[in-house]
Amino acid sequence: MRLTVIGTGYLGAVHAACMADIGHDVLGVDVDAEKIAALAEGRPPFYEPGFDEVLTRALASGRLRFGTSLREAAVHGEVHFVCVGTPQQAGSDAADLRYVDAVVDGLVPHLAGSCLVVGKSTVPVGTTARLTARIAALVPPGVRADVAWNPEFLREGFAVEDTLRPDRIVVGTTGQEADGILRRVYAPMLEAGVPYIATDPSTAELVKVAANSFLATKISFINAMAEVCDAAGGDVVTLADALGHDTRIGRRFLNAGLGFGGGCLPKDIRAFTARARELGVGPAVAFLDQVDVINERQRTRTVALARRLAGGDLAGRRVTVLGATFKPDSDDVRDSPALAVAASLHREGAEVRVHDPEGIGNARRAHPELRCEEDLLTACQGAELVLHLTEWGQYRELDPAKLARVVREPVLLDARNALAHEEWRAAGWTVEALGRPAPPDRRPAARPGAPLRATIASPAVDADRAATLSAATPARGA
Ligand code: NAD
Repeated sequence: MRLTVIGTGYLGAVHAACMADIGHDVLGVDVDAEKIAALAEGRPPFYEPGFDEVLTRALASGRLRFGTSLREAAVHGEVHFVCVGTPQQAGSDAADLRYVDAVVDGLVPHLAGSCLVVGKSTVPVGTTARLTARIAALVPPGVRADVAWNPEFLREGFAVEDTLRPDRIVVGTTGQEADGILRRVYAPMLEAGVPYIATDPSTAELVKVAANSFLATKISFINAMAEVCDAAGGDVVTLADALGHDTRIGRRFLNAGLGFGGGCLPKDIRAFTARARELGVGPAVAFLDQVDVINERQRTRTVALARRLAGGDLAGRRVTVLGATFKPDSDDVRDSPALAVAASLHREGAEVRVHDPEGIGNARRAHPELRCEEDLLTACQGAELVLHLTEWGQYRELDPAKLARVVREPVLLDARNALAHEEWRAAGWTVEALGRPAPPDRRPAARPGAPLRATIASPAVDADRAATLSAATPARGA
């Protein structure tokens, strides 16, 4: 089939290459000429495992081309996939749909034959209906352009696998014809047994934001439990393991730590609450405001713990941040919790060095004030505090004994609860994490009626730990 994929970012570029890989004749279109030139030469403009192979294969097959012209797209496609960004509006929680609208306005007047416009971007419920009216007003006489929504669930880091072997395909259409066209597009997936859920456009739009809201809620739930563990002396990792054995709950997405970020979850839950308010059902999803607040608080809790580990003042302290991307196996730094923490530490006067296996270029562009290092050992040289903020596999494989010889003070804040704390402690490191108890010999004595371990929000906590670091390190500026 002749497909166009409009918007070739993290979602669209992978979709375009994978659609060509399964046999379609694909034209990828973007307004970013540099990105298009890179893709046309087989150079992925971002890091995504396995994407370079599928891109190379698709280009070599002759079934994948790239360009910048919506006019050309209008002529090429019998199906047009809209994959442009839907970021948060400036000064509002709502989604900014200007890029989606610009695609419709630029494409539809040039349509030469009947076609199907399929939205894949994440949008507020009601968008398909709105675009249907917009398209009807723009379409040339005699041409029919239907609209369908087919939300995308791919995860960065697994984008190729998720596109070629999705766990489900959701399609929202208003007619049999559009449904039939999309079944033909995804025929190889359907033959492989991928569940296909055919529904109306509103339900399809809602599935995506509901899925992201659920995932965000699960993460914030366990982070809320981590705060309670910190106050009560519990261990959130054991708690999560115990919860996870209940098959109704499950262990996935119950990793307490620095919380979620990226180009999707934060803006999607905000856009959902904004849309629900417009629909008069704001109270039904008001809990998502708390999910957002809890998530943001993990960043301030991490900075507060770092500050206390530095003896109450970060100014002049050499701090190494491991991880800049919002998640491992991606170079995406959009709303990255790791970079937000690194920037806060920098604002408090710390000498911050950031390392990331793939995201250093994007980190530099987003935060030119931060010192970014390509080499991990250089980044850790002379550090008084190491923060583990993005759980790349490479960090789990670090040798803590070797690293202890490189840093000035072996103090680790594992804000992802992903490193082997006992191994690090055995190698001489002081290890702290959110929601984890200090080792028994480091716990403050319990007073009747007082929490075993004070909360991170309390300034008087863990004076012993703070003292350990400040006693062992020179005064600031030294
Ligand atoms: P992105 O910013 O990486 O890509 C968007 C692309 O659209 C950019 O390359 C931009 O230049 C292009 N664009 C903007 N206006 C255009 C126009 N008028 N014509 C042609 N191209 C235009 O964003 P992304 O991460 O790929 O996300 C795109 C959409 O998919 C969003 O709605 C997002 O929520 C959703 N989504 C993303 C993911 C993900 O993991 N990244 C997963 C599922 C859904």
